[in-house]
Amino acid sequence: MGILLRDCDWVVTQDPQRKVLRNASVRISDRRIEEIGQLKPVPKDDIVDCKRKVLIPGLINTHTHLSMTLFRGYADDLELQEWLEKKIWPLEKRLTGDMCYYGALLGSLEMTRTGTTCLVDMYFHMEKVADAVEESGLRAILSYGIIDPKDGEGKGRERRKTTEFLQHIKAMNESRIEFAVGPHSPYTCSSETLHWSRELAEKHDALVNIHIAETRGEQAQLEREKGVRVAEHLDKIGFLCDRVLAAHSVWLTKSEVRLFGKRGVRVAHCPVSNMKLAGGGVAPVPEMWEAGVPVGLGTDGPASNNGLDMFDTMKTCALIHKAHRWDPTIANAQKVLDMATIDGARSISKEKEIGSIEIGKRADLVLLDARDPNMIPIHGKETVVSNLVYSANGFNVDTTIVDGKILMTDRKPLVLDPEKIASAVDVSVAGLFPK
Ligand SMILES: [Zn+2]
Repeated sequence: MGILLRDCDWVVTQDPQRKVLRNASVRISDRRIEEIGQLKPVPKDDIVDCKRKVLIPGLINTHTHLSMTLFRGYADDLELQEWLEKKIWPLEKRLTGDMCYYGALLGSLEMTRTGTTCLVDMYFHMEKVADAVEESGLRAILSYGIIDPKDGEGKGRERRKTTEFLQHIKAMNESRIEFAVGPHSPYTCSSETLHWSRELAEKHDALVNIHIAETRGEQAQLEREKGVRVAEHLDKIGFLCDRVLAAHSVWLTKSEVRLFGKRGVRVAHCPVSNMKLAGGGVAPVPEMWEAGVPVGLGTDGPASNNGLDMFDTMKTCALIHKAHRWDPTIANAQKVLDMATIDGARSISKEKEIGSIEIGKRADLVLLDARDPNMIPIHGKETVVSNLVYSANGFNVDTTIVDGKILMTDRKPLVLDPEKIASAVDVSVAGLFPK
């Protein structure tokens, strides 16, 4: 049985020509996009009326920590180190697997609700996160966050947790859920651990999900200790390659960006989190484009954003680069939409499968209500894209489809139960913040 998304007012394909179609339909069959155009229903079709709707590819969040939804609003307006050391790390020590599970369910619900269909996550208790994401119907690449203990002891434990998580994902045998290796960062992982991570990724054809150059302090520390910049350091130890997805990448020089380009490194740009934690500076994204680095967009975790709405992140991305460069033409609406869709897919090596509305691709699709007040008017093709980036928000999303399965329609989640999740999160939060 197929699904016919019938008579969409607009279809923003994000295909290589960036075609925007008017009054078009899309047929989904066997979890993939089968036909696009003026289509007539056939008896086997389930029909979704898409009049007054805009169809777009599902958004891709290339960097987040879903379970941190539990910390939302708890520790804001603080210096990064104080935020981490006094607030976040002590809380993280108290997290249980169940808490991470419900936090991840809440994050998955927010993503379903706001049009994100694929995410990249790194955290603890990842078996539980994987179970939650699998249940939600979303697509994900998941990694256990490896942090080398300061005394060197427990390194074995971190590696064991990573390989156990790999086995868990393999046993799930669900094509929507993939494994990545997750060394937390160059300042929390030794060269040896980074090397081990890359080798494991090679062996299992996986990505390496890592935070790089989020703050100036991190670069300064490395320069003091080793006399090199972070990209040089990582290149020297043979770490940089096309499996590396580098979150943040704010404090990079132009030559480090070129090195990323040469080695095929990908970047997850997190403008909201970078601004909120005030690490200073702005990621050199235009230079990354010039160097051929695939750049996706990420929200980062809900403790530093504080939402998971990719529409909000798209707008912020456009604004930060314009403001920073005194150039309104930079990071234009089309390019920013690319970052949240097809470029995001490139940044996680999935551009053949997702990121655009093209025949044969996985049916990860999102419908927005074109008659919501903030979506009116739509003058023409360019305005659709402009509205998506500058005036839409996640709550304009009406329908979310992943792998050909409808997860939400009419703004009502069909797979996850919002009431149940809210109650379970209340219990987790009570356990985490005892009165
Ligand atoms: Zn992060």
